[in-house]
Amino acid sequence: MPKKKTKISVQLSKDILYFPGHANIVVLNFDTKSLMIECGRNINDASEIRRNAESLFNNKIEYVVLTHFHSDHTHSLPLFSDCQIIASDQLVKFLKAAKRKPIKNYPVVNPNVVFEEEYSIKEAEVEVIVKQTGGHTPDSSYVYSPKHKLLATGDNLRSDFLWGGRKSDPDKWISALKEYVDFDVEHIIIGHGEIMTKEEVNAILEYVLEVKKQIIEHIEYRTKEEEIIQKVKEVTPRGKFGVFIHDDTIIKWYKFWKKKMKIA
Ligand SMILES: [Zn+2]
Repeated sequence: MPKKKTKISVQLSKDILYFPGHANIVVLNFDTKSLMIECGRNINDASEIRRNAESLFNNKIEYVVLTHFHSDHTHSLPLFSDCQIIASDQLVKFLKAAKRKPIKNYPVVNPNVVFEEEYSIKEAEVEVIVKQTGGHTPDSSYVYSPKHKLLATGDNLRSDFLWGGRKSDPDKWISALKEYVDFDVEHIIIGHGEIMTKEEVNAILEYVLEVKKQIIEHIEYRTKEEEIIQKVKEVTPRGKFGVFIHDDTIIKWYKFWKKKMKIA
């Protein structure tokens, strides 16, 4: 019989357990309770992660915080019906509108602590801030724990490319990246890919600002839409991951700024 594969966990510090995966998951220990950021797509994996974290920290996951509604971050919610599931009102709207098929033998579970713009979790003198910034999707939120010196950005950061959803707002995205680099953090957990340093995020921010500058100039020059991607590809990504902006997203951003600049 092949051995059952167990989810790999990495203990980043005494109170941080990190589960790298298709979408990264992290669990923060608050002594008597724990907080989980993202719950993943696969319910069996999520169940194992929960067991693993609860046994290591010897407490219960009381809070689950979601960065955005996409199923690779939220699909395993039914496993956490006994927890406070924290999400922005926009996330809940998107989640309900997505009308996903329930997981067999599980009830439909939605977030039960819903906030507008910002929310603060206070537990045993520890405060964790959840803020909806928009960016990758309008509901995109970050989770910041000063005590753990940890920031989780959801898909506003990935280590391959940046990709924006249908109603993605690049200006809000840039503001969020600027907020990230101002935090006093040691661990930046991104949506997909490796843990980042602030230097890395700064490199991505500089690249994104350069791309914005180029797109705005091309809008002013009335460069043809087809040529924009080619021009923007000439901007070299910075930092060790070489994170670039997906072609789809370049066009979305071009259209966004063109509309904002009221150029027909
Ligand atoms: Zn994702």
